[in-house]
Amino acid sequence: MKSYLTGIVMVSALVAAAIADAYALQGSSVRDFDAEIRTAVQSAKTAADVEFLGTLSRLCLLPQSSTEDTSDNVPAFVAKPSSAPARETWYADPARVFDNLYFVGGKVHSAWALTTSDGIILIDTIFPYNSEELIVGGMRKLGLDPKNIKYVLISHAHADHIGGAEMLQSRYGAHVVMGAADWDVVAKYPNRYKTMAPKRDIVGTDGMKITLGETAVTIWATPGHTPGTLSYTFTVFDRGRPVHVAYSGGTAFNFPNRTPDPGIRNFQTYIDSQKHMAAQAAATGATVILSNHSEFDNAYNKNRMLAGRGNGPHPYELGTDWVQRYFQVMQNCARAAQIGLERDLAK
Ligand SMILES: [Zn+2]
Repeated sequence: MKSYLTGIVMVSALVAAAIADAYALQGSSVRDFDAEIRTAVQSAKTAADVEFLGTLSRLCLLPQSSTEDTSDNVPAFVAKPSSAPARETWYADPARVFDNLYFVGGKVHSAWALTTSDGIILIDTIFPYNSEELIVGGMRKLGLDPKNIKYVLISHAHADHIGGAEMLQSRYGAHVVMGAADWDVVAKYPNRYKTMAPKRDIVGTDGMKITLGETAVTIWATPGHTPGTLSYTFTVFDRGRPVHVAYSGGTAFNFPNRTPDPGIRNFQTYIDSQKHMAAQAAATGATVILSNHSEFDNAYNKNRMLAGRGNGPHPYELGTDWVQRYFQVMQNCARAAQIGLERDLAK
């Protein structure tokens, strides 16, 4: 494991050296942007190895996400619920993953119930059309009472994570926590968030702790995917043993990223956030990386591995080096895209 990390550090150093060289040469020659991009993508691929191929393909290989959405239309799945995606495309069985952490999400998007001595902290709420069955129904199947949800943490205000927030707040009186900028977006676009928008409640800020009973989730501001994206660190227990978790709250490049201004700056914000989160993961000794999409953290597949675990290692527990590699994939893919904009700027 250690040698992998050393390898990444060395590759990162090589990337930095290559970029520095390229800058040094600027006076006399031109930067080889394509070579710089290839190096950054290769660094991401090396870091991803076989564990984070979904994150690698989404950020480095597939066409980039659409830019920031400024429309205010009622989503089709709200206006006409029968148009929501078919159940077989999103249904997943709920699962008790750690002693105190339960998966109540779907095949593609995750939601987690963190149980404490004084109630439940729910992390992300998926879509309006499946939060009832997956979260409320899933909790009941696992023996949890949704009435005990005290806090709902929203990683960011996209419909695949905020969809059930209004329902959980109004039905159970749960406190909703979200980043300031994303609260503002929810207020600005009432149609877009129809049936999803909770009443403005707690503003999550960097370093804030949400404490319930003996359990605390620490919030980290990681702007990038959206301006208010929040990530988390917290501790779970595996058969009584404490295990530290880093939860990455936003992944794809859904910000204005097509033009050097503001794209270069936005990518830098994103990169800085990944460095910030990687540092918090290292400081807490996180050996588990969670995302809110199964394509990034393989939650759906790992849940199906739990039953066959026996006395083997926990399928989610990768070790501290792999958690760092996850953030290396994000950083290097963002850097590759940022170099592309620097190339556009130099034209
Ligand atoms: Zn999103």
